[in-house]
Order: sequence, then C-alpha cells, then structure tokens
Amino acid sequence: MQHSSFYTETKYCPKCDDYVRFLQSVQACYCVECGSRVHLFSLDDRKAFLQRIKEERAAKNDGHKRVS
Ligand SMILES: [Zn+2]
Repeated sequence: MQHSSFYTETKYCPKCDDYVRFLQSVQACYCVECGSRVHLFSLDDRKAFLQRIKEERAAKNDGHKRVS
C-alpha cells in the first residue's frame, strides 16, 4: 500500500468547525469539503498553544528560580 503524505494531515476549517483534510496551495491551505481556508489550529488550540509558549518563555525569563 502506498502512503502519500498528501492526506495524512488535517487542519482546522472554521466553516466545517472541524479538522479536515486539505488542499495545499502556494498561498494557503483549503478545506477539501467546502473550500474555505483552513488553519493549523482551531482558535482554542491556538490560544492554548500560544499560552504554552508564553508560559515557557516566562519560565525561562524567570530562570533564576528553579523550576522543577
Ligand atoms: Zn470546510
């Protein structure tokens, strides 16, 4: 069986409100279901992701304290 990487990933489509398979173009990625532009993360996931980065950065800046 041949495994193409083309359809193995999913991205978040705000219109379908779900993670969907997508078509890659030069500029952006588009939902295969409705053609909307898709994002790597949903808004919530993105918020959580950014929050985590923020916390990690804060922890680093706070590096004089020991974080275990
Ligand atoms: Zn869609």
